[in-house]
Amino acid sequence: MKTVSDYFGVNVFDDRVMKATLSAKVYNSLKQTIDEGKALDVSVANAVASAMKDWAISKGATHFTHWFQPLTGITAEKHDSFISPSPDGGVIMEFSGKELIQGEPDASSFPSGGLRATFEARGYTAWDPTSYAFIKGKTLCIPTAFCSYGGHALDKKTPLLRSMEALNKQALRILRLFGNDTAKYVRSSVGPEQEYFLISKEMYDARPDLRFCGRTLFGSKPPKGQEMDDHYFGAIKPKVAEFMEELNEELWKLGITAKTEHNEVAPAQHELAPIYTTTNVATDHNQLTMEIMQKVAQKHGLACLLHEKPFAGVNGSGKHNNWSIATNEGQNLLSPGETPYENAQFLLFLCAVIKAVDDYQDLLRISVATAGNDHRLGANEAPPAVISMFLGDELNAVLEAIETDAPYKGAEKTQMKLGVDVLPKFNRDTTDRNRTSPFAFTGNKFEFRMLGSSNSIACANIMLNASVAESLKIYADRLEGAGDFEAALHDMIKKTIKDHRRIIFNGNGYDDAWIKEATEVRGLLNYRTTADCMPHLLDKKNVDMLTSHKVFTVDELQSRCEIMLENYCKTVTIEANTMISMAKTGILPAVAAFAAVTAKNVITKKAADPSLSCVYETGLVKKLTALTDEIAEKTEQLQSEVIKLADADGIIAESELIRDRVLPKMCELRLAADEAETLTAKSYWPYPTYADILFSVR
Ligand code: ADP
Ligand code: MG
Repeated sequence: MKTVSDYFGVNVFDDRVMKATLSAKVYNSLKQTIDEGKALDVSVANAVASAMKDWAISKGATHFTHWFQPLTGITAEKHDSFISPSPDGGVIMEFSGKELIQGEPDASSFPSGGLRATFEARGYTAWDPTSYAFIKGKTLCIPTAFCSYGGHALDKKTPLLRSMEALNKQALRILRLFGNDTAKYVRSSVGPEQEYFLISKEMYDARPDLRFCGRTLFGSKPPKGQEMDDHYFGAIKPKVAEFMEELNEELWKLGITAKTEHNEVAPAQHELAPIYTTTNVATDHNQLTMEIMQKVAQKHGLACLLHEKPFAGVNGSGKHNNWSIATNEGQNLLSPGETPYENAQFLLFLCAVIKAVDDYQDLLRISVATAGNDHRLGANEAPPAVISMFLGDELNAVLEAIETDAPYKGAEKTQMKLGVDVLPKFNRDTTDRNRTSPFAFTGNKFEFRMLGSSNSIACANIMLNASVAESLKIYADRLEGAGDFEAALHDMIKKTIKDHRRIIFNGNGYDDAWIKEATEVRGLLNYRTTADCMPHLLDKKNVDMLTSHKVFTVDELQSRCEIMLENYCKTVTIEANTMISMAKTGILPAVAAFAAVTAKNVITKKAADPSLSCVYETGLVKKLTALTDEIAEKTEQLQSEVIKLADADGIIAESELIRDRVLPKMCELRLAADEAETLTAKSYWPYPTYADILFSVR
């Protein structure tokens, strides 16, 4: 039998393959590009392309594609075959360095938010050599960035790579100040925990809302939900186990280190986590993971739902973004060290994150904002829309001691001066886990928990990397000019704790009292919806920070804001239209038919015996009729709200109409329809119910 190590990464042009297929000179040159960002020359690119092509063909590949992540949220690929006609009437298989490095997809229909006039249809894709090429089906996929001819980023990878570079630059400055002259680069790493639902394909196909919107728009609460907590970490059902087995195999072949899998809280909900890796690779891998989950599910007669809130009243799905920064020498800069001096450096990096999260709460909120995730944030199961940080008791005590110049319990000397020999050694606080915090320190990394399950992790990490780079820049500017390094360091850490203490919260993030305290006493932001937060992307402080680190240009930010709001409006509009159609063609006819039959029954019964009262039937007919009238009325109202969107003056105004008029009307319509569902005979109801769907996989 083949073991995992036999086939792990077989479909990846990874370091092992490069070493085996490239000359030492080409390999070393490529390695320098990958590790240190050195420019790649044409002869190297040609040699790599040729080796890549031979390898891919030996694996059965016939095509290649520049694989990229446009702003639609999914990945895009346009396949070209390797074939090129030869004079003798046959073909030869060709792939040049030029084709490897740059591609020109006809990309006129990808969203650009006005960055690229549609007549200028071509953007170009550029190879990202830091993420390995891989084979999917019969196609060699080359991870690429996607830009307009003016050089503007039209994708998620470009700003992510730029943010990693910004963080690298500033972190190295700090490390040099601490006497580290050997680290060549610093990179952020991420391990994203991916939640998803698995339901039967048959149920999925029978629900237009799931097919068009990824979530149910109607559905009354099932008799049994998640209240028994019997699904969490429970035994995995055979059909699900088969799915997970094949999923793991497919991911492993692509070099994706799928590591843990378990059932989640809600029925039919599961989670997969890989072993963490460099942020841009983790981002590519997460996109692939989501794609392959859906493909493998289909093969097993299942549907994999990645929506943040597929079922109202049942826990939604998120994606925990475990994030840390480390040097190429393997030092995790968020890991408390062995010596006090290392701990001073650790505390400085910790403070950089605290300051970043407080100063750029809005950017972090924006980075996870989608119509889907709005249903989840703040709904007693996921972190609230208010951002706060959890550090654990030990670190809190350390920070408090520094802030107040008070003695720390573990310190030998009386004062917490951050000198070389006085800072105590403290233990990592791994036992103390706060599950309700949006941004929790978990021993040697931070876990950002607000991401929605369908989000690309790129956006959150762009904002994290950039805002932490900004804190580090401010620190480095001050420390590089300081006469007394240790005194300056101490003062700066102390000042950060004082200035940003408000963002630290160790209590229950799901508690209503916290939201009140956070917003009213601490002045933290609470942007409840995408429409509320997105325009703040263009606030001066955010634009200044992001452009100064060259993560985005002003134009790119404007276009992104517009595209994200457009996505929000389009998503909800599609939902509203789906609801209208389901109500008119499915629900109303069904309820009306059932009411009519019930009414006929009354007539039949009374004809047989006029003295019969038929209280049940007549009451039911009344209720059902009132409900159909209400459903019909709400449907009309919703339709007219949707029509009015066309008159909105700009995308911000439209998003506000969506938030204030369309979404509330959708809720009203749903309420009436869900009540009708509880009164209508199951044989009449046109769609599978929550109970059918959630318990459909055995
Ligand atoms: P839990 O569910 O308890 O939060 P998991 O084990 O499911 O934890 O997931 C933790 C994730 O964090 C994994 O993807 C793991 O690889 C990742 N991780 C661990 N250490 C680091 C680190 N230093 N930097 C980034 N991610 C990390
Ligand atoms: Mg977690």
